[in-house]
Amino acid sequence: MAKAKIAINRETAGRRARFFAELDRLGLDGALVSGREDAHYLSGYTDSDAVLLFAVSRQRCWLVTDARYAEEAERSAPGFETVLWKNGFAAFVGKLCKRRGLARIGYCPASLTVSFHGTLRRETGGRTRWKDIGPVLSEMRAVKSKAEIAAIEKSLACAEAAFATARKRWRIGMTEREVKDDLEWEMRRRGGIDAFETIAATGANASLPHAHSGLRKLAAGKMLLVDFGARVGFYNSDLTRTLWPGYVPKVWLGRYRTLLEAQREAIGTIAAGVAGLFPEAIAREFLTAFGIDESHFIHSLGHGVGLAVHEGPRLGKLAAKPLAAGNIVTVEPGVYFPGSGGIRIEDMALVEKDGVRLLSSLPKDVDSIIL
Ligand code: ZN
Ligand code: ZN
Repeated sequence: MAKAKIAINRETAGRRARFFAELDRLGLDGALVSGREDAHYLSGYTDSDAVLLFAVSRQRCWLVTDARYAEEAERSAPGFETVLWKNGFAAFVGKLCKRRGLARIGYCPASLTVSFHGTLRRETGGRTRWKDIGPVLSEMRAVKSKAEIAAIEKSLACAEAAFATARKRWRIGMTEREVKDDLEWEMRRRGGIDAFETIAATGANASLPHAHSGLRKLAAGKMLLVDFGARVGFYNSDLTRTLWPGYVPKVWLGRYRTLLEAQREAIGTIAAGVAGLFPEAIAREFLTAFGIDESHFIHSLGHGVGLAVHEGPRLGKLAAKPLAAGNIVTVEPGVYFPGSGGIRIEDMALVEKDGVRLLSSLPKDVDSIIL
């Protein structure tokens, strides 16, 4: 077996041991894991249409899927017994829970359909207790190992190199769609794929944080906001840059400088032990102090990135929990003026014991924003 594969197997085995300990602590005797990223995290399984079932007392693990994935399951999820379902996926899993005598089962409502869970409940009977263990997995996944940090850095390097190359070709008259396709193509030819649908939004369209790219053309003095990320292997990156073809109108240059400074201030506060809401509060305070009403900053400051583009921890108003060393978060303040445009700057940072390390290095100073 290749060295890298052995290292991955060792890592997933370690995660399973910690997962079992958590289930035990919660008084659960079983767990059903249905989300694709969670399943990959705990087993190494590389495909879809599968659930994992865990029996705590004997530390047994099953991977339930269908014949199409049998070979993939055997290959990529060592330590799991592959079971192929028949006569209905959910009914089969429910019967398996019952046969194994599982009565207090952890599950993840966020990644299980209501109908799947309804069938499970019918099959297992009214006495079975179901407990949401989404937070357990989310907290485990939020703290990245060395190998995961390296994987995320790889996806970042892909996205950054793609952007640096593609932007040289972007010209006044090109459409948002052309910019988007060009950048996605650059990520793909470097071995990544677009982690999510790239946003390339110009002028008034940039005031929509989740704008769709259309046939609007790049024009002098109208900002081009590009929010993009690559997925390489299983790990994602997420970045935003705002550029101006030709020149930056004075009012936007002022706002851009303020936003950049607000981001710098927010990043400066990040460290293990700091509440997730603190960096955002600082960014908002800064914007307000420099004349931009914080009501223009209409989303939260950031989010964790890993196997999913959006995962724990959150950086926002409701995030009272302290950050932990090993968290990887975006820091993405933005200000939006409906009808005229919007700007956002998004970077990725690793939370460390005594501070923070910026992982992204794509230029964002005012000299770099003219296209
Ligand atoms: Zn983004
Ligand atoms: Zn983001």
